[in-house]
Amino acid sequence: MSHSAVSQAAAVSVSIGNERSLTRYVFKHNNSISFNTKPWSSSLALTQKTSTIRDAKRYSNTTICMSVQQASSSKVNVSPIELEDPTDPPLNLYKPKDSYTAKIVSVERVVGPKAPGETCHIVIDHDGNLPYWEGQSYGVIPPGENPKKPGAPHNVRLYSIASTRYGDFFDGKTASLCVRRAVYYDPETGKEDPSKNGVCSNFLCDSKPGDKIQITGPSGKVMLLPENDPNATHIMIATGTGVAPYRGYLRRLFMENVPNYKFGGLAWLFLGVANTDSLLYDDEFSKYLKDHPDNFRFDKALSREEKNKKGGKMYVQDKIEEYSDEIFKLLDNGAHIYFCGLKGMMPGIQDTLKRVAEERGESWDAKLSQLRKNKQWHVEVY
Ligand code: FAD
Repeated sequence: MSHSAVSQAAAVSVSIGNERSLTRYVFKHNNSISFNTKPWSSSLALTQKTSTIRDAKRYSNTTICMSVQQASSSKVNVSPIELEDPTDPPLNLYKPKDSYTAKIVSVERVVGPKAPGETCHIVIDHDGNLPYWEGQSYGVIPPGENPKKPGAPHNVRLYSIASTRYGDFFDGKTASLCVRRAVYYDPETGKEDPSKNGVCSNFLCDSKPGDKIQITGPSGKVMLLPENDPNATHIMIATGTGVAPYRGYLRRLFMENVPNYKFGGLAWLFLGVANTDSLLYDDEFSKYLKDHPDNFRFDKALSREEKNKKGGKMYVQDKIEEYSDEIFKLLDNGAHIYFCGLKGMMPGIQDTLKRVAEERGESWDAKLSQLRKNKQWHVEVY
């Protein structure tokens, strides 16, 4: 697809049948309509069904409204506006002993056939009762008994929310999660042992539209998007599902028409995954690159497909090293830097940043403590 074809593209949304989970964003170009560039995700979405007629009606209305808005403006209007109340983020509205019963809207596999493992995008209907801000997490209590405490429910598992406060349908009634299915392979035989697979991630990835789900939260303040300066720089570093909070940020910055927050700064995303098939939300991010080239940068590290300059696997820290001069200058000028994903990502990144700082004649420890003091340093790893 040529650049000009894309810039002429109109974003519209269509309803296939009458049901919300069948609604897809499509981009129209050169007289052809494509759902997105990954055929597997749209075909899987088409197998999903919403649970009630009430939902179907609600979302078919949303769809019509969205189509009109998108035709007349490049950003989507959002409601209800009360969600912009600037006081404090909502925190722990529901606790493990008093959780909220929400409903699954859709579960969509969002990686291709050559991705190692499975990752799903899961939309949850909270009907406006579990509001949250971008960068927060929900807790999920999987059904069943806690094997370590017979008779008691499972412990809560946390998941970063991957949508904005308005949700994927822009009405403030849903939240989306990006969940990687935890599968256990016996180290000796190399075979999967289903009895040791992750409880909650498998429950989530196997759930069906209409299923009930116990939610706690929202929780977390460390990954909230600071909005006091609309021209700030945000450097976002993720491995795998660590991209979840950034999907929320980027929809807020580039997709939604938020009344009091018009972003004019720079958002720079570094995403590390195994291969092209493992890329998450790539269609959304590629569209921001085309529509907002002065405000968005996107660098990918594909560890199983690309080599770093030393001939080893390309990890996200190698990309950081490649742009370290720019990153250090941006940090010196007040940029925020965020890290989200597996715990294992941090040592390699910290080593790289320390080495670069030393090459520049700076003390990394002093710089890090300054970044922390200035609230520029945001880490959520698990
Ligand atoms: P568990 O049942 O808790 O098992 C944990 C691991 O142990 C699994 O890999 C399982 O295979 C293995 N295991 C189980 N039994 C055995 C055994 N007998 N011997 C050896 N190994 C065993 N995850 C996401 O996918 N997306 C997110 O956006 C996300 N955000 C998070 C945000 C925060 C703030 C935190 C703290 C965590 C986040 N997580 C996220 C991780 C998530 O909370 C869970 O830890 C993850 O999904 C695994 O939970 P589970 O119930 O599936 O696995």
